[in-house]
Amino acid sequence: MRVSEYTPTIGIETHVQLKTKTKLFAAVDNDARQAPPNTLISHICVGMPGALPVLNEAAIELCARAAVALGTEPQKFSYFERKHYFYPDLPKGYQITQYETPIIAGGHLHIEVNGTKKCVRIERANLEEDAGKNTHPAGADYSLVDFNRAGTPLLEIVSMPDIHSAAEAKAYARELWLAMKYAGVTDGDLYHGHVRFDVNVSVSENPDRLGIRSEIKNLNSFRSVEAAVDYEIKRQTELQKKGQPVVQETRGWDEAKQKSLAQRSKEEAQDYRYMPEPDIPPIELDDDYIKKTKTKMPSLPNDLRMKFEKLDLPQGLIESLLDNPQVSSFMSRIMANKYISIKDARRIANWLAIDVQSLVNLGKISWDTAKLSEKALTMVSHMLDDNKINSTTAKNIVFEIVVVGGDPNEIARIRDWLQVSDEAEIEKIVAEVIAENPKPAQDVKNGELKAIGFLVGQVMAKSKGQANPEIAKKLIKKQLGL
Ligand code: MN
Repeated sequence: MRVSEYTPTIGIETHVQLKTKTKLFAAVDNDARQAPPNTLISHICVGMPGALPVLNEAAIELCARAAVALGTEPQKFSYFERKHYFYPDLPKGYQITQYETPIIAGGHLHIEVNGTKKCVRIERANLEEDAGKNTHPAGADYSLVDFNRAGTPLLEIVSMPDIHSAAEAKAYARELWLAMKYAGVTDGDLYHGHVRFDVNVSVSENPDRLGIRSEIKNLNSFRSVEAAVDYEIKRQTELQKKGQPVVQETRGWDEAKQKSLAQRSKEEAQDYRYMPEPDIPPIELDDDYIKKTKTKMPSLPNDLRMKFEKLDLPQGLIESLLDNPQVSSFMSRIMANKYISIKDARRIANWLAIDVQSLVNLGKISWDTAKLSEKALTMVSHMLDDNKINSTTAKNIVFEIVVVGGDPNEIARIRDWLQVSDEAEIEKIVAEVIAENPKPAQDVKNGELKAIGFLVGQVMAKSKGQANPEIAKKLIKKQLGL
């Protein structure tokens, strides 16, 4: 039986934590990353009787920006509802969310997998509050609840079933994260769960009909989205091949074992008894508000991607430029500067995305503090063209500029990194090298031109890497009478 007879379909529900200063309905700090448990709470966050929520306008603004980043506009009218369920991390007994009228309806994102572009449609996105967090200390006969996260604004974004492979799921997750980060909607700190993915996976023999789905909740990296979807597609395909039923259920992802495990079966939809939230007035946005939101939008990842494609760089390198808004906005400025050539821009992109990025990955520097100077980096590129330095030295100068700043010519001079192009000086070294290496010199004379590389290497070593290798090669040939 061919595997291709089974069509996988994936829907992704993403919770994006909005980067407001305060919570969705209370004037309490929203950034709980460094706070001890239960220090960022108020009577509203823990649902004391009589507490009245007040809507944070900044959250609405971020939702409006998210809508534009998703290629659409926010809805002009939406309201909140209460979603009832009982769990210790939800003291009110209901979550304030949007159900009938999400603030975003529709939209789309473009993704690219192996050179094939496709559009993933967005079904809806609603604004809601987060719940608290339960922890279960190992061996203890109690659980702990931390309400710091209760009331944090979330945008829950639901995709249409347009994704059909693990690679597309990963690409969508990353593209959504990039779009929300560039639009200024979220800090996008994946480690702290600012963006969390729930994936629905089903496999069907009939491509016109969806199979029974399983859901894996709370994935917080693109890699785990890809691995979990891949695992589920294989597991469900195997079951169907064997004629066994797929159960509709919620499954957990075990990162260590790279396996999904059954958690709870969901035979019927739970009855959440949705009802309009009576304490918060509806959200009404007018044309003027929407127009203003659009004019205030920064560059979005897809616009920058199209711009960087003009540099004729490999796709992977463009994507790593996009990973950091500091780097991509710098590259965008470089490209807008009419005094900087495409050749220089391409070289600078390579230094930043490959060489400097490797130092960032090692934790040696941070993009937040990196000193990115258009003028200095362009000068390094020119010094390379003028043979004043070689490409290894160029990278070392770039590192120094990015970490401490400075004038590249000065750096090269102080560090004694300038390439020696003075023929008289190189001539002396070449003479020495030929005298010290009679055998390779004779080989070169006899027409074994491969040996010339060895002699050039000796010249480079003797000059501590400063001789211009092209000139060295020319002078070796000249002295050997070739
Ligand atoms: Mn939700």
